[in-house]
Amino acid sequence: MDPEGRTFQRGVVAVHNGRIVYVGSDGVRYAGTIEIDGRGKLLMPGLINAHTHIAMTLLRGIAEDIPLNEWLENAIWPREAKLKPGDVYAGALLGCAELIKTGTTCFNDMYFFMDQVAEAVAKSGLRAVLAEGMIERGDLGRGQEALRRGENFAKNFDGFAEGRVRTRLGPHSEYSCSPEFLCAVKEKADSLGVGIHMHLAESKGYVDSVARKLGKSAAKELEEIGFLDKNLIAAHCIHIDQQEIGILADHGVGVAHCPVSNMKVALGTAKIVDMVSRGVRVGIGTDGPASNNHVDMLKDMKIAALAQKSLYGDATALPAKTLPRMVTIEGAKALRLEKLIGSVEVGKRTDLILIDLNKPHLTPPADPWTTIAHSAMGSDVDTVIVDGGILMESRRLTEMNEGEIIKKATEVAQELASR
Ligand SMILES: [Zn+2]
Repeated sequence: MDPEGRTFQRGVVAVHNGRIVYVGSDGVRYAGTIEIDGRGKLLMPGLINAHTHIAMTLLRGIAEDIPLNEWLENAIWPREAKLKPGDVYAGALLGCAELIKTGTTCFNDMYFFMDQVAEAVAKSGLRAVLAEGMIERGDLGRGQEALRRGENFAKNFDGFAEGRVRTRLGPHSEYSCSPEFLCAVKEKADSLGVGIHMHLAESKGYVDSVARKLGKSAAKELEEIGFLDKNLIAAHCIHIDQQEIGILADHGVGVAHCPVSNMKVALGTAKIVDMVSRGVRVGIGTDGPASNNHVDMLKDMKIAALAQKSLYGDATALPAKTLPRMVTIEGAKALRLEKLIGSVEVGKRTDLILIDLNKPHLTPPADPWTTIAHSAMGSDVDTVIVDGGILMESRRLTEMNEGEIIKKATEVAQELASR
């Protein structure tokens, strides 16, 4: 997944101090202090989950088969109101374990108590882009308080965990934040030198009510107030028309497409083929585990392709060669991390995974793009390396005790349900 899209049948990657120093065929020998034998495995860049709320592992399975407003108002928000910092840590740690076990090496997250999520990232060895979620609902005082918390988190945790944590500001959405508040957020983000992560055009009902209030679409309004640029990643973008897709493309906005979560709550399917053809940088996200119900990017990538083929009535939509790029380098571009991660290239940080090909469903061997895009699952990932650190080997977590994490998260989820 370098710019030339090269593949090697028998490849070697050499790494020094967490940085890739050689990529090529196996003619070259390096005397490594650690050598990983990748025979029978496929090496690729670590997966990038472009939108999630990882601590929502705790709410997995509590609200199924109901529409978004009931899902939020009756099930999720009442539980979230009772969350304590320690709960978020336990849920985030469980989510980090699941991310590693399914091959994700970097995730983009927005939630509450994000200092706890940052601590879980530090413990797990993963890489993450984190934002404290901010909801204002036209209440100036509430907005100021939220922005103060968001700013503090962004300032204090940028570069945390040996530089693996980057921060953003996280205004929740165009329907829960007024244009005035979003102006203040943009100004603050620019002065801090951080990006913005928000939800946009997720539900038809919310999109229509915002358009009625503003007299124009949210994308048009965001363009007019100077909110749109390459430092913004917007999740969902389902209910936007061709003109609005053009606006996102013109300003270099990154989009996090979350097909499974969107279909599960019946919100619709974003027009990703149009976005990609017009140059929008689109990554794929799982969204929170409460609306998915996993964070397996290999599964979601395939579902993304199936949904686009079905939406456009076109079997050529999102072909096998495009998909693996969307969960690696395109996700990195959407998060403005493409100089650091997203491909196996000399000079990049060592965020790599090995997929075990010795599986019935991966036999006989197909071309690697097809294997990754259409056949592989998270449970096929054998080895995970982030920033040069080995986080999983032969499917065993090296930095965390999986059994203890599962036990603790189960206890916390049960206690939360009875609180
Ligand atoms: Zn979300």
